[in-house]
Amino acid sequence: TKFTDMNLDLKVLKAVAETGYDTPTPIQAGAIAPALEGRDVLGIAQTGTGKTAAFTLPMITLLGRGRARARMPRSLVLAPTRELAAQVAENFDTYAKYTKLSKALLIGGTSFKDQDKIIDKGVDVLIATPGRLLDHLERGKLILTDVKVMVVDEADRMLDMGFIPDIEEIFKRTPFTRQTLFFSATMAPEIERITNTFLSNPAKIEV
Ligand code: AMP
Repeated sequence: TKFTDMNLDLKVLKAVAETGYDTPTPIQAGAIAPALEGRDVLGIAQTGTGKTAAFTLPMITLLGRGRARARMPRSLVLAPTRELAAQVAENFDTYAKYTKLSKALLIGGTSFKDQDKIIDKGVDVLIATPGRLLDHLERGKLILTDVKVMVVDEADRMLDMGFIPDIEEIFKRTPFTRQTLFFSATMAPEIERITNTFLSNPAKIEV
């Protein structure tokens, strides 16, 4: 299969074509179709497998089917480190360049004031590290009740860094009806417990 055979938004396909990619990697081939069908996805994949696009392309497509620039975010991506969150944000900018979707990158090391300004304009997608997102939630700046698609990237590293309680707290603040795309390089018992609790009949893709 090619990306053009997948049910992706035409604006997304145009941006993908510009990157020069035409063939999905195995994690992309496995995860994109069930994600577009609205299913939860459990992807077991290392970095370097193309997993960022595996969740970003369907996420943008799913958001494009709704209305843009809602007051509160409709999608949330959690990454373990500032660097990874910034990489996801870069990927999002590349693949969403022909859409009107907006994002906020919420990571430590940037002032709350600057992040608040972006949030106040209304953003479609939040890309965040767990600690900084919880800070915003506790300040009452942000609510997650409009979140339709939630992504957890590199859950195994979140576990190593002690973020599992934060992740659980964030999950609990999103609607029960959300769609969840969850990625981890390994399935430690604690990761398994989280996925059993918060994912609903996920399509499991292991590469
Ligand atoms: P990731 O695992 O998301 O960090 O991606 C690893 C690298 O593979 C990045 O440099 C991507 O830009 C690149 N990449 C992602 N999807 C594809 C694809 N379908 N074909 C070739 N390269 C890709």
